[in-house]
Amino acid sequence: MPERIEIREAEQKKEIPCDDEIGFGEIFTDHMFIMDYDGDNGWHNARIEPYSSLEIDPASSFCHYGQMTFEGMKAYRDVEGEPTLFRPEQNGRRLRRSNRRMCMPEIEAEFFVEAVKTFVDLEKRWIPEKEGTALYIRPFVLATESYLGLKPSEEYRFIIIASPVGPYYPAGLKPTSILVETEYVRAVKGGTGEAKTAGNYAKSLKAQKRAAEKGFDGVLWLDGREREYVEEVGAMNVFFRIDDTVITPSLMGTILPGITRDSVLKILRDRDIDVEERKITIEELAEAYRQDRLKEAFGTGTAAVIAPIGRLQYGDLNMEIDLEEPGELTRSLYDQLTGIQRGRLEDKFNWTVKV
Ligand SMILES: *Cc1c(COP(=O)(O)O)cnc(C)c1O
Repeated sequence: MPERIEIREAEQKKEIPCDDEIGFGEIFTDHMFIMDYDGDNGWHNARIEPYSSLEIDPASSFCHYGQMTFEGMKAYRDVEGEPTLFRPEQNGRRLRRSNRRMCMPEIEAEFFVEAVKTFVDLEKRWIPEKEGTALYIRPFVLATESYLGLKPSEEYRFIIIASPVGPYYPAGLKPTSILVETEYVRAVKGGTGEAKTAGNYAKSLKAQKRAAEKGFDGVLWLDGREREYVEEVGAMNVFFRIDDTVITPSLMGTILPGITRDSVLKILRDRDIDVEERKITIEELAEAYRQDRLKEAFGTGTAAVIAPIGRLQYGDLNMEIDLEEPGELTRSLYDQLTGIQRGRLEDKFNWTVKV
């Protein structure tokens, strides 16, 4: 990996929007991190330069075959106003695994964290302050060799951009309504479901669009083989509370191993709550609902942190779980996780990293 990161600062800095005006991923900071890869030099020329358009050869392999991976993470301001990251080494490790799956050269997790820290330090004036806001960081890797033959590219670019994001729930944590998708699937065993790679998301749009047209906020994905087992909710991992046991689908190749998912599991186990990572069928959920034992459901992911599921529509069965208010456990997990991220609560798991 490169020894140093060259910095060329923007001469003109942009105006920063006030905290109440920011949406999600609409505006970008003054700079971007770029690093190149080719067969002779490996990863080289790590640099931060003014944010600008990329010059892309239209024959670049990522444009045609989607050889591309990405990450999503956030920088927060803690209670003292210090820029803080949440488990960034986990994003670095996951990007390595995604790259390996997509035949792309790996980036060492330590270098990944160093690059993110250097970049966020330069852009720290962009980290908003208000509760629920953050600087969203998007590292990604593109295959850039100009060649139309189908084979792993010999050239790549690793880029990091960042965008200030407003609260995911401007009006407070709000239950969502979710349609169980019984036709389209997100992933199959042996496919790329556990890698954060572009094609997974392009192919999910159709189901999301159809659900939105019917008035739902998102879809619950079932497994690609039997359409029986629950996998994820939108681009989030999913948890259910049945009686006093919390259940999340086990990672078996089709599910993206979320860092929020892992953090929630660690918090639940630390609280001595019964947790099960296992296969769970939609029929088991329906049965639990009919018996009034399905108490809470929520998604987990960096963007929303915790997304309460208020209603789950499966065929004709309308499962109304928590229509008005998120459940007690859902809320307490949201409060604990965001509390740790913002430095309000003790970081007993050593998850936060100062920039
Ligand atoms: C990124 C992602 C998640 C959540 O991962 P986090 O590390 O918690 O942000 C879950 N599912 C899918 C499909 C994802 O792409």
